[in-house]
Amino acid sequence: MQVALDDYVRGAVVVTDLVNTAPEVWPHKGDLLDAPAALGRFLAEHRVRYPEEPTAGDLDAVRELRGALRELLESDDAAHVAERAAELVARGGVGPALSHVVGERWDWCVRSRPDARPADLLALVTAIGLLGTLRTLGHTRFRECASPTCAGLFVDTSRAGRRRYCEPAVCGNRINVANHRARRRADPGTD
Ligand SMILES: [Zn+2]
Repeated sequence: MQVALDDYVRGAVVVTDLVNTAPEVWPHKGDLLDAPAALGRFLAEHRVRYPEEPTAGDLDAVRELRGALRELLESDDAAHVAERAAELVARGGVGPALSHVVGERWDWCVRSRPDARPADLLALVTAIGLLGTLRTLGHTRFRECASPTCAGLFVDTSRAGRRRYCEPAVCGNRINVANHRARRRADPGTD
C-alpha cells in the first residue's frame, strides 16, 4: 500500500472515523470495533488494504492506536502532535518515494512496510492526515464535537473550516439534541 502525501484529507477522515469508534464517544452504541471482523470491515470501508483477516491482537493494537490518536486530537501542543505523528508514519511506512500518477506526473508518497499489521497501516494513513492538516490548514482544525450528547472529535478539512460536529448528520441533528435535553430535564441524573 502507498499513501500519497498530498492526500491528507483521506487520512483526516480515517482519524475522525477511527477515534469515534471508541465507547466513550457514543456510550449507548458501545465500542464500534468490538471484534476482529468489525476491524476488517473498518479497513475495507477506508480502503486500507490488508490481505488477511485481522486477529484479536490486531484489534488490541488498533484500539491502542485509537487512544493515542484521541490524545493527539485533544493536545494543545502542535509541536507534540507533529513529533508523534512523524513517529506513527515511521511505524507503518518507509519513504518518501515517488509514484507515477498520470502521464509525466509524479506524486510524493510513503509506502507501507512489507510486514505492516493493520495498526501499523492505520498509523501511517492517519498520521499523514494529521501532518497534512497541520501543515496546510493549521492546528485549529483539530476539534471537539459541539453536540452536548457526544464526546467525539474530528479533523476539519473543509475549505471554510466551520465544521462543528464529528458526524454532522447525527450530532448536528436538532431533533436528537432536543430529545437529549428533554431527557435530561426529566431526569437530571442521566447523561
Ligand atoms: Zn459528535
